[in-house]
Amino acid sequence: MSLQTITSRIRKAEKKAGRAEGSTKLIAVSKVQPNERVEAVLAEGHRVFGENRVQEAAGKWPDFRAKFEGVELHLIGPLQTNKARQAIEMFQAIHSVDRPKLATTLARLAQETGHCPDLFLQVNTGQEPQKSGVLPEDADKFVADCLALDLPVLGLMCIPPADEEPSLHFALLAKIAARNGLNGLSMGMSGDFESAIALGATHVRVGSAIFGARAYGAA
Ligand SMILES: *Cc1c(COP(=O)(O)O)cnc(C)c1O
Repeated sequence: MSLQTITSRIRKAEKKAGRAEGSTKLIAVSKVQPNERVEAVLAEGHRVFGENRVQEAAGKWPDFRAKFEGVELHLIGPLQTNKARQAIEMFQAIHSVDRPKLATTLARLAQETGHCPDLFLQVNTGQEPQKSGVLPEDADKFVADCLALDLPVLGLMCIPPADEEPSLHFALLAKIAARNGLNGLSMGMSGDFESAIALGATHVRVGSAIFGARAYGAA
């Protein structure tokens, strides 16, 4: 599929849900993709990209940024505290704030540098042991604690379990966000972004549907 196809599917899903055109931001997830494919999407004019590793992003984005203006980078994968400083310098948004210790570290760095990317707090809606994020029952407190730290919390993020109906998880995330007064919802990937938009996604993270299958598994 192409960037254009995905964009028009997003616009259709917005319309069907009675939402404003352009109310969903498309994050093109470029992790592991060959540089030629990423450059082709940049050349088409797209500027919002997602990476799941700080190291990988640091290796390729400085060159792309030298060549294309206005790139906006979103970190969507787990962040170690010792890479937080590098992350806040490189990314305009972090979708994977998944534990109190990382929140505290980001708050300290924000104080020190006077700058912090937009943040999404990750909720482990499927309560999967191998997945990052706070449990749904701990989410309200985590939101409150992050806001008390003066962090710029835009919203919540989830990655539904692979073998479950994703819309149940999108609905749960939307409900937790609403009761906490948060508008941002980072949810929906290649296989399910339309149902995420129907349930209020403001940010969809789409990789393989734009770039093609990843050569080796980093999903
Ligand atoms: C890789 C990844 C995506 C994109 O997945 P696709 O199925 O290729 O669209 C979205 N979100 C996260 C957190 C990812 O790691």
